[in-house]
Amino acid sequence: MRVLFEHIDIPDIDRLEVYRRGGGYKALEKAVREMTPEQVTEAVTASGLRGRGGAGFPTGRKWSFIPKDLSLRRYLCCNADESEPGTFKDRELMLRNPHQLLEGIAIACYAIGAERAFIYIRGEYAEPADKLKTALDEAVECGILGGRIFGSDFGVEISIVRGAGAYICGEETALLNSIEGLRGEPRLRPPFPAVKGLYESPTVINNVETLSNVPHIIANGAEWFASIGTAKSTGTKIFSVSGCVNKPGNYELPMGVSARELIFEHAGGIKGGGHVKAFIPGGSSTPMLTSKHLDVALDFESVAEAGSMLGSAGFIVLSEEVCIVRAVLNMARFYAHESCGKCTPCREGTGWMVNMLESIEAGSGRSDHIARLVDIANNINGRSFCALGDASAQPVLSSIKHFREEYEEHISQRRCPYPSWSFS
Ligand code: SF4
Repeated sequence: MRVLFEHIDIPDIDRLEVYRRGGGYKALEKAVREMTPEQVTEAVTASGLRGRGGAGFPTGRKWSFIPKDLSLRRYLCCNADESEPGTFKDRELMLRNPHQLLEGIAIACYAIGAERAFIYIRGEYAEPADKLKTALDEAVECGILGGRIFGSDFGVEISIVRGAGAYICGEETALLNSIEGLRGEPRLRPPFPAVKGLYESPTVINNVETLSNVPHIIANGAEWFASIGTAKSTGTKIFSVSGCVNKPGNYELPMGVSARELIFEHAGGIKGGGHVKAFIPGGSSTPMLTSKHLDVALDFESVAEAGSMLGSAGFIVLSEEVCIVRAVLNMARFYAHESCGKCTPCREGTGWMVNMLESIEAGSGRSDHIARLVDIANNINGRSFCALGDASAQPVLSSIKHFREEYEEHISQRRCPYPSWSFS
């Protein structure tokens, strides 16, 4: 079942005329002409839509936190920073069907009473940013977006802001800082963005995939959306599958599909016909699971029960040929590089983890290094200023939990037992 990708293969669907021919912007018209903002929020709440950027927070509830005081200026920010390793779904959504996102943004703005919206897109996404800009200009020129939408009193101005390559700017308060031209660092909470966000005004921040679902909910109804997926994780999810599979790519499937089905029926199975050693279900910041978890349903609740998180569904598959220590070292280097340096546990601890993993991988690890790694990761996890710190600890903690013997082998043999494996 495809919702977001339903029209993606239609030639020129990124052009306004083609998008409209397929029913595009009808949901926006319905919202502004036939529904009150409260009814739009109620429909999104009833649909059960939850944030697709990682946290899985109910979208309608997030919108309802915006203060009712209409004298306050409100903002909507679309988080298109998509920097989580293993995640590349938003890129495809923006590149191939930009109007679907723009329509979702306009409906969300109507629901929360925002007249200004920003799309914060990662700097490396030059092509999707150009596509969005062209689509936005076309929609404004034709009077679909801008002032007095479909003859109503509602209007919205949407701006595209390019990031400059920092992972931390995907964290919602660092994203707000970056839009304001400040250093990309997370802000202390409370106050939460719904109360004091962009330019100290009430702000909603939603992910690209989340907002792209909104037109479909308004067009087809909350009940229709809630009938897809599982009772608590409704709708579809785009899984970005990468790693040791024959057919890496984005797969849109109902929430609750099993990891086994995703790998073997959709992603073509393991390269070279091998077996799964581990998989990371929600981007590199989520704990890895093992071949014992292949029948876990990929929805928010089931993945959490199995000891991980659905996250952004950046699904990374590691075959039995992969060196777990080297794979974790690769992720640890990423987090150490991307730490913004604001708080001590993350700034110092991420570097220490890299040093220790490098020693173990090089064959110079000591027997106490595993316990030290666990100790450092536990001192970062839950003790850092923002989620990046917690994220950096997950690959280390989960790999030692499931593959401690592999670490021990590196130390006892004084070499990597997988010398011929590489990332290519
Ligand atoms: Fe910066 Fe890391 Fe602290 Fe987050 S956890 S504020 S990224 S140093």
